[in-house]
Amino acid sequence: MPTLFERILAREIPADFVYEDEHVFAIRDITPVAPVHILVIPKAPISGVAAVPESGDHQHLLNAARRIAEAEGLDAGYRLVINQGEAAGQTVPHLHVHLLGGRPLTWPPG
Ligand code: AMP
Repeated sequence: MPTLFERILAREIPADFVYEDEHVFAIRDITPVAPVHILVIPKAPISGVAAVPESGDHQHLLNAARRIAEAEGLDAGYRLVINQGEAAGQTVPHLHVHLLGGRPLTWPPG
């Protein structure tokens, strides 16, 4: 059964794409919690951080996130979040990085 993000990547479900390369794509979150809230997603359907292989080309996610943050003008700063597992609020079992910015982000988060 394809994940929600695989179906979005296949253009079966509409989404607002902001970035795509060979390894990664990015869409605007449908329920944004900040003026900029983008999901950076590997094309490989890895279920979460807990399933990331020990070796591999994992720099693509961070490189894409940095490029998108620059393109969005988040010079003042931004936050990258990965929720792993139900207790952390993960709802889609396909690895994704939340890129948040465009407002002051308090620390620690709730
Ligand atoms: P997480 O809760 O960390 O698994 O993040 C999943 C994110 O996907 C949530 O922030 C949702 O708002 C977002 N989301 C769910 N469905 C869609 C969709 N169709 N298009 C864009 N974002 C979505």
